[in-house]
Amino acid sequence: MLATKLNVAFYGHVRQYHNIRAEIDAGIQEVLESGQYVMGPMLQRFEKELADFHGTKYAIGVGNGTDALWLTFKSLGIGRGDECITTTNTFFATAEAIWIAGATVVFVDSDARTNCIDPGKIEAAITANTKAIVPVHLYGQCADMKAIRKIADKHHLLVIEDNAQAIGAHGDGFRVAELSDAVTLSFIAHKNLGTFGDGGAIVTKDPQIDRMVRRLRNHGSDKRSCHSPGYNSRLDDLHASVLSAKLKHIEEWTELRRRWASRYNVGLASASNITLPYEAPGYRHVYHLYVIETKRPEHRDALLQFLNEEGIDAKCHYPIAIHQQEGFPWAHEARIVGTITNSERNAACCISLPMFPELTEEEVDYTVDRILEWDRRAQ
Ligand SMILES: *Cc1c(COP(=O)(O)O)cnc(C)c1O
Repeated sequence: MLATKLNVAFYGHVRQYHNIRAEIDAGIQEVLESGQYVMGPMLQRFEKELADFHGTKYAIGVGNGTDALWLTFKSLGIGRGDECITTTNTFFATAEAIWIAGATVVFVDSDARTNCIDPGKIEAAITANTKAIVPVHLYGQCADMKAIRKIADKHHLLVIEDNAQAIGAHGDGFRVAELSDAVTLSFIAHKNLGTFGDGGAIVTKDPQIDRMVRRLRNHGSDKRSCHSPGYNSRLDDLHASVLSAKLKHIEEWTELRRRWASRYNVGLASASNITLPYEAPGYRHVYHLYVIETKRPEHRDALLQFLNEEGIDAKCHYPIAIHQQEGFPWAHEARIVGTITNSERNAACCISLPMFPELTEEEVDYTVDRILEWDRRAQ
């Protein structure tokens, strides 16, 4: 048993900044000296780098990941009377963005092991009003995009990937952005690619979406003084400079996340009261979050409290699924098709362990040790 108590943080933002301080500071300095702070050359540079990273033609920087979603829906004409199919065990913004666009959210259950949308549940939810499927690559692992694409083709539906959590992930024989109409990203500070504040982007191979989103994010304007109704949601050049510097490190950081995940996997293999995250064969999970589940729901809060008391800042993503939020169902705005038992189990049993590239072996081993200690007592 390890003797000393450690404090293990959930995020490593400041460690990360210190590791690449010279690159970050140089980029910020460059923007400050250029005098071009909004829609300037740094934004253009980052958009090009982000499109190249995804192997697509277009990337458009916007204010945040929620705007990225609803501006994409709007650009595709999704609005009142339309339905979008997604899951309830995601960050609230996925559903919120569908509502902002004016459409109805239709929830189906997630897969028991990956916690991403279960493609087998989608067809039962399709009606004449269905416009799009919005899979979420939850915790850093892609949904089964091949199966989703097949269903979308059969029923002439759009597919928008909510990729706020999985930059750098791929599936078994497919890349993010390959099998969808558009991909949305969030760059809020705690995402795998995060800025010092808020940011977001849309990545697409469709020139129509690119043109429409570019207008919508900038007051419906693509020519000076000419407007149609739009919005103001731009990615500042300062954030673009930070993201450009960080994008160069994303592969190395992803490998570190995967290394910590496998260290957790090995260390926790003998724990009998928890289930470890499932990585589907051929998939590259990028571990935005490393989420374990207690086998019994009544164990969850006990383990979480134990870890917090031991100095480990473990959390829950997400303890209240969207359909369990107060006041649900919101009349005419959301519908559930089938049972949601997998998402409900996930919400009741999930615990996110500290996961960021700058963790240390000592911190991971201490966390493992404390969980094993709890596990022995929980028998
Ligand atoms: C973070 C997140 C969003 C929203 O991103 P913001 O930048 O916070 O608006 C949307 N969907 C998912 C799955 C997320 O994790």
